[in-house]
Amino acid sequence: MTYTTQMHAARQGIITKEMELVAEKEGISPEELRQYMAEGKAVIPANKLHKCLNPNGVGSMLKTKINVNLGTSRDWKDVDMELQKVQSAVEMGAESIMDLSSYGDTRKFRRKLTQECPAIIGTVPIYDAVVYYHKPLKDITTQEWLDIVEMHAKDGVDFMTIHVGINKSTACRFKENKRLTNIVSRGGSIIFAWMEMTGLENPFYEHYDWILDICQKYDVTLSLGDACRPGCIADAGDISQIEELVTLGELTRRAWEKNVQVIIEGPGHMPLNQIEANMKIQQTVCQGAPFYVLGPLVTDIAPGYDHITAAIGGAVAASHGASFLCYVTPAEHLRLPDEQDVKEGIIASKIAAHAADIAKGIHGASDWDYAMSTARKRLDWEEMFRLSMDPEKARRYRAEAKPEKEDTCSMCGNFCAVKNMNRILEGEIVSIYDE
Ligand code: SF4
Repeated sequence: MTYTTQMHAARQGIITKEMELVAEKEGISPEELRQYMAEGKAVIPANKLHKCLNPNGVGSMLKTKINVNLGTSRDWKDVDMELQKVQSAVEMGAESIMDLSSYGDTRKFRRKLTQECPAIIGTVPIYDAVVYYHKPLKDITTQEWLDIVEMHAKDGVDFMTIHVGINKSTACRFKENKRLTNIVSRGGSIIFAWMEMTGLENPFYEHYDWILDICQKYDVTLSLGDACRPGCIADAGDISQIEELVTLGELTRRAWEKNVQVIIEGPGHMPLNQIEANMKIQQTVCQGAPFYVLGPLVTDIAPGYDHITAAIGGAVAASHGASFLCYVTPAEHLRLPDEQDVKEGIIASKIAAHAADIAKGIHGASDWDYAMSTARKRLDWEEMFRLSMDPEKARRYRAEAKPEKEDTCSMCGNFCAVKNMNRILEGEIVSIYDE
């Protein structure tokens, strides 16, 4: 039997080699995974031309995955530096890399990624169109927007963010219902501006069926972009966001009719108390399609620390159904992240993802914590370093403030509760004062 996409295979009862690999990583049976994929509740972004891909699945019943945004910009043109960041991100455990390049020979960089990088590769064709055509935004034609989508598919990208939910109707609602921070999605603001200047319908919405045919041909997973994601907590859950989400729900159904795999993109900035409800609404409206959240950042006031505001929101979102976290770095809202920012963003996202996996009861998630706690009880520092999310930092911190006694740390010294409890339970005398 033949198939077009992973979803098409799943619906025909075929277990692909990608499903087998992903099921093994997740600790579930290939048949269970196949059923989730047939229903659209899990996806394996895997362009047929991305030959070196190490596949991963995305779905709320699977381990929470993280994405790392990288790529060149006008102010940061160093391709080698971006490739170095890609390699570091993969080594640190990022399952997905989004190439958001907006300067230079973007195609060369993109092709290098799909030829050499084993992570899932995602792109946003809107950004690339603006670079590729070298002309004013309003002069880009409907056909040219679409051609870029096809070019990215041919270049082997596994998923594409397409800002298709902001059609004329959504744009009208957005203008009628004022927001504090308008549209903060880069792609959303570009396509909104193009629609305003040309008076034309969003080309991705108008020619959605054509895009679906391209996605089906190459097995590109559609990541339905949220142009109206809230850019501040004051805009969270407003009419524009919900109107667009309803449109994305309809577009999900149409994609599934053509066996195209779908991810839905979500907030954004959102107060902690709104996140659970937002995840439930998405799951209902989009019939369980995996939710890919950009944060959510739970407060607006911490530039320099937004990897933390996003990790708090990401953990809550993922524990209530989101399955894919876009990392946020300390550089968010301030500048393009450097290597250290990328590292801190990845670690923060991975902590959020892991915390959610424990809360959701994902198979084997808490085994890691059990092993760490066992090492802690034994005061086995080498094992604690090995098991740390960031072994280098853990080792460095201990080395920077060496304790007098090797079997404690400089936090409590002789008062080390772990050491003293181990000793007293083994029948030893614990003096503390003169030890
Ligand atoms: S000294 Fe204190 S912080 Fe350090 S290992 Fe012992 S109990 Fe933990």
